[in-house]
Amino acid sequence: MAKEEKSEGKKLKEKLLAKKKNSGLTMTEAEIKKADKFCEGYKKFVTNAKTEREAAAEAVKEAEKNGFEEYVHGKKYKPGDKFYYLNRKKAIILCVMGKKPLSEGVRIAVAHIDSPRLDLKQNPLYESDELALFKTHYYGGIKKYQWPTIPLSLHGVIVRADGAEITVNIGEDEGDPVFCITDLLPHLAQEQMKRSAPAIVKGEELNILIGSRPFREDDLSDKVKLNIMKILNDKYGIIEDDFISAELEAVPCFNARDIGFDRSMIGSYGQDDRVCSYPALEAVLKVKNPEKTIMTVLTDKEETGSDGNTGLNSSYLPYFISTLAKTHGFDEIQVISNSECLSADVNAAFDPTFPDVTESRNAAHLNYGVCVTKFTGSRGKSGTSDASAEFVGRIRRLFDKEGVVWQTGELGKVDAGGGGTVAQFVANLNIDVIDVGVPVLSMHAPFEVTAKNDIYNCYKAFVVFFEDK
Ligand code: MN
Ligand code: MN
Repeated sequence: MAKEEKSEGKKLKEKLLAKKKNSGLTMTEAEIKKADKFCEGYKKFVTNAKTEREAAAEAVKEAEKNGFEEYVHGKKYKPGDKFYYLNRKKAIILCVMGKKPLSEGVRIAVAHIDSPRLDLKQNPLYESDELALFKTHYYGGIKKYQWPTIPLSLHGVIVRADGAEITVNIGEDEGDPVFCITDLLPHLAQEQMKRSAPAIVKGEELNILIGSRPFREDDLSDKVKLNIMKILNDKYGIIEDDFISAELEAVPCFNARDIGFDRSMIGSYGQDDRVCSYPALEAVLKVKNPEKTIMTVLTDKEETGSDGNTGLNSSYLPYFISTLAKTHGFDEIQVISNSECLSADVNAAFDPTFPDVTESRNAAHLNYGVCVTKFTGSRGKSGTSDASAEFVGRIRRLFDKEGVVWQTGELGKVDAGGGGTVAQFVANLNIDVIDVGVPVLSMHAPFEVTAKNDIYNCYKAFVVFFEDK
């Protein structure tokens, strides 16, 4: 039977018009299986590494398992050598030396490992009406009403007066107690419900309930507080003043889970931005003997603006590259200026329940692959890093050639809001950089949603970028 001739219009349509498709239609069954398998590792990572310190420690562990050694200042490295530089236990650079000279630049993937959370204040512990509580100060952009009435765990470090460092991780194991913030019952919330949304639960109302039994001695005040302090002293050897030199973070204690009857998605706390950190980490661990020197940077403090010595607006990355350049006899400005970077951060996925904030033609959609974002910022692209057409073209050609499923996405409608990533700080070093990352639903909520196919294609994107000739 003769094949039916396509009409001129159909032929032209195929040739000329954009044809983005759901990855569920374009990826092979085998690839989807690989994506599912990859995401099993991711779920473990995002469940076990809930803070920047834990993610950095996890990266060190994985790196050492894969033959990475701790960076030695002034050491000359050969092509294929693998090493990592840990910055104050909260940020890490993993590097594999390439065959080509450093003067041709390095390839960088950067993602952040801090997530919105509730930090304990420096004088957190108090008793009120025979309940013991912790005062908190929220970290990053949260909708405060989302944080009460969910189980919380406590993570971090306490530096005692004697200098001893105590690691805290309580509320994650089945047998651990958990903590929570209380909320009003609807029966008595008439006045609360009249508050404007940002104030339904106020910052100073994010108090964590931690105990209710008194120390058994009648004529003392603050007996519940004392009893808690005694428990903490027995367990950690700390006194109340030790909270002053502590960094304790309350985060949701639930594990990452599959979402949907088809198990196509993942729900978890802290996917922004560990959903990009994990692929970036796995990619640098996987790629052996790259042409150019490759680096995965897992950075801290993105959620508060990247300032501070573990954030990317500090000098730790350029210092590291400069030192590496000088040690190997290259001009550091040349090395940095010839470098390229994928800034890996999440983007907002189109939400059919809240379609009004996005412009669907230019929004990222779940399952359409890793999202390439040319520019960030708000209003008239204020605070943007805007990748050049040339660099977008380079990345587009690379992804298409290597079969990465990708889409473009802009964070929301014009003037609906906006946001930035670390891309601007990389761009300000005179490095070509573009945002790539995984689309997320319910971003910054205690339970964020991503799609497995997108996560896998994010990983593929880093691998092909690192392996590129
Ligand atoms: Mn982010
Ligand atoms: Mn964020």
